[in-house]
Amino acid sequence: MGLFGRKKKSEQGSQPGGAKARQGYWLVKEHMDGTDSWQCSECRSVFQSGADVCPNCGAENRRVRRDPAWVDELEGFDAMFDDN
Ligand SMILES: [Zn+2]
Repeated sequence: MGLFGRKKKSEQGSQPGGAKARQGYWLVKEHMDGTDSWQCSECRSVFQSGADVCPNCGAENRRVRRDPAWVDELEGFDAMFDDN
């Protein structure tokens, strides 16, 4: 008869007491000369390549956002020649 007496949900803490790593992402800037710079969204440090975890602040940067910086650089060029 005790079959239906066990409906209580037990709340499980998946990470008891652990300091949760911050979740960030890499903002990758692609430059006209073919180089990339990887900026951590959490601490804004810039590296030449990305890792799963930021070497500086320890944020978990599993996502990557590409930001073609060369578009801005190109617009700078255009401004030089576009002289109307
Ligand atoms: Zn960082």
